[in-house]
Amino acid sequence: MDNTTVVIVGAGVAGLTLGNFLLRHDIGCVIVEKHSRAYVEQRQRAGTIDTRGVRMFRRWGLDEVVEGDPVDQQSGFFVDGEELPLDFAEDDNSESVFCPQQVLVRNLTDVYLRDGGDLRFEAADVTLHDLTGEHPVVSFGGTALGCDYIAGCDGDRGVSRASIPDGHLTRHSHEYGYAWLSVLAETPTKPSGMAIHSRGLAGLIPRGPGASRLYLQCRLDDTVEAWPDERIWAEIEARFGTPPATGRILDKRLVPLRSVVYSPMTYGRLHLLGDAAHIVPPMSAKGINLALNDAEVFANAVIQRVRTGDPSLLDTYSETCLRHIWNYQAFATWITDLMHDAGDATYAGEFRKQVARAELQRQFTSEAASKLFGELTAGVN
Ligand SMILES: Cc1cc2nc3c(=O)[nH]c(=O)nc-3n(C[C@H](O)[C@H](O)[C@H](O)COP(=O)(O)OP(=O)(O)OC[C@H]3O[C@@H](n4cnc5c(N)ncnc54)[C@H](O)[C@@H]3O)c2cc1C
Repeated sequence: MDNTTVVIVGAGVAGLTLGNFLLRHDIGCVIVEKHSRAYVEQRQRAGTIDTRGVRMFRRWGLDEVVEGDPVDQQSGFFVDGEELPLDFAEDDNSESVFCPQQVLVRNLTDVYLRDGGDLRFEAADVTLHDLTGEHPVVSFGGTALGCDYIAGCDGDRGVSRASIPDGHLTRHSHEYGYAWLSVLAETPTKPSGMAIHSRGLAGLIPRGPGASRLYLQCRLDDTVEAWPDERIWAEIEARFGTPPATGRILDKRLVPLRSVVYSPMTYGRLHLLGDAAHIVPPMSAKGINLALNDAEVFANAVIQRVRTGDPSLLDTYSETCLRHIWNYQAFATWITDLMHDAGDATYAGEFRKQVARAELQRQFTSEAASKLFGELTAGVN
């Protein structure tokens, strides 16, 4: 049986970032991914890497993976069809870049393979064994890999979290009670931003030249079939109060909005990273931020353990990540509640709109608040 220090399950943002960090420090690792390279590299989701993420890659000498365009700060907030006259604070420190998730994944894969990394695509039936022993094993398609640690980076529906026996993890979750119809369209983004309206929230966000993501708040029991293309464009126009640029619709799906955290993020020698351990609602656009933070905390912990024998960072991995995660869940809950016209009927409608208008104006006009808010919202998209 082959052996390595860390087997990383999943070649998404968390797994590939971790793999690159470990490779740079000569720590043995193998990434095991169930899909093909082509499949992984075309999955379109997030669009922006926030300042925190850009600086993190720079610290690890990986600036090249986030080479993108500086974020266009022109996205605005609309209430009842009118753009809020927000005096966006100048943020000279912002280094957010427009770098679609599939571009980041492709860049991370290229650099990892170029630098000699071991990545097994199309790994069938990945199975985790002996998680609480000294030497866990990951098997797939007739191969078995022994290791010191397993990094479970295989998302919300992967095998890693599912391998933890019942009773060891607590699932903390919050359902917001509504969904987004998430649409990918071949069109310039005009207008650009998020709209609060009695009909529900709408979003129009750039995803590269001539591509946009459209979001429409809808009911949890809605269906994609109920949203023919014409209805989508009409609803965007109604909620933004202005006709949008239109184009070919490439993809439509329903995403229920929820916040989830699994605790602890460690079971024996298995450590969970990214979406395998937590989900934030897309309104906050912080999924990437959390996945990158987990990868950095775990990489530092393994490097310390291998170099000096000191296990203290590994022992506190879960605690360290959870502090960061809850901070961002607090922000995600706040911005999601603020932007949606839902919930208790006495608090919805006109009252909610006025509160949202006041909150957005307050956050962007007080220097201290906008600094904090700007740091957290640098990636909101
Ligand atoms: C529609 C949508 C829009 C989003 N928009 C944003 C946004 O604007 N900003 C933002 O920050 N975040 C956004 N997110 C969230 C963001 O995409 C995720 O938080 C991020 O992808 C998490 O990275 P990850 O590496 O943990 O998981 P993933 O990117 O899901 O990677 C997991 C990998 O594991 C692989 N895998 C799964 N099962 C197995 C298995 N059994 N064996 C081996 N490999 C396996 C998968 O194929 C995949 O490659 C969005 C998500 C969605 C769905």
